[in-house]
Amino acid sequence: MAGRFAPSPTAELHLGNLRTALLAWVYARAAGLPFYVRIEDLDQYRIAAAPGIAQTQLADLAALGLDWDGAVRKQSEHFDVYRAAAATLPTYECFCTRREIAEAAQAPHGSYRPYPGTCANLSAAERDAKRRTRPPAIRVRAERAEFTVHDRFAGAVTRVVDDFVLIRNDRVPAYNLAAVVDDGLQGVTQVTRGADLLDSAPRQAWLATQLGFPAPDYIHVGLAVNESGERLAKRDGAVTLRALSAAGIGVAAVYQLLTNSLGWPETASPQELLALLRRRPELLDSPSIPAPFNPHL
Ligand code: GLU
Repeated sequence: MAGRFAPSPTAELHLGNLRTALLAWVYARAAGLPFYVRIEDLDQYRIAAAPGIAQTQLADLAALGLDWDGAVRKQSEHFDVYRAAAATLPTYECFCTRREIAEAAQAPHGSYRPYPGTCANLSAAERDAKRRTRPPAIRVRAERAEFTVHDRFAGAVTRVVDDFVLIRNDRVPAYNLAAVVDDGLQGVTQVTRGADLLDSAPRQAWLATQLGFPAPDYIHVGLAVNESGERLAKRDGAVTLRALSAAGIGVAAVYQLLTNSLGWPETASPQELLALLRRRPELLDSPSIPAPFNPHL
């Protein structure tokens, strides 16, 4: 059993990511679980465009006072493990472009756009013809399974599992596959992350069970937003530790900003916070935790 924080090293952590990391650490430590950090560096092109980001992310977590157990796992070092896991599942080749999928999909359910199954039953001849035009992505055959996950704040969340992509058409394992395999292999049973991934939880938990792993418990937490309620981004000004520090807001002030936003009393450090939460566990269910977080910068 364990908890984790799993950033993608495509950009520096912003206040929302830091708040999620703090919460992931808090929930794991409060439950007496090991806490792992995993670098989700599947997308080598985007990562090459931002060198050194993973190291900066780790330094930022440490600066905030968070610690983690064992070595940091890097997904780029385990492509063979993800491909081997995909090979144990019923799958099919898919030649659809993003645009074709968007056009064919039924009304989207929030951000969740189930794949309509266009390539599920191609004949061998159709597949051969399509292979000459584009390389295939590999999709899992989910047979419209229904799966229910449990989220600390959202409660029971049920979705029909679509035939989602396991291996992209550039042969790179997909995020949904790699994250599930890693959580399974690392013994992760508590997944704390941004609310934007709530809709992906049922398909991921279903995949975990298909691979012989238990479905984790989820804690989806509020995303950081700007004054207009949109997701916080670089254009909103100083949103990273480095930029905030250049603007005169040091890491201690950022820590206070984050814990204030969670509705928690002031503490000097995450360790002190943990001691407080042990005495007052009801604070772990503060309604501010799943709510959008506007740092009012
Ligand atoms: N790497 C993902 C992100 O940075 C998080 C995935 C997860 O926590 O499952 O958004």
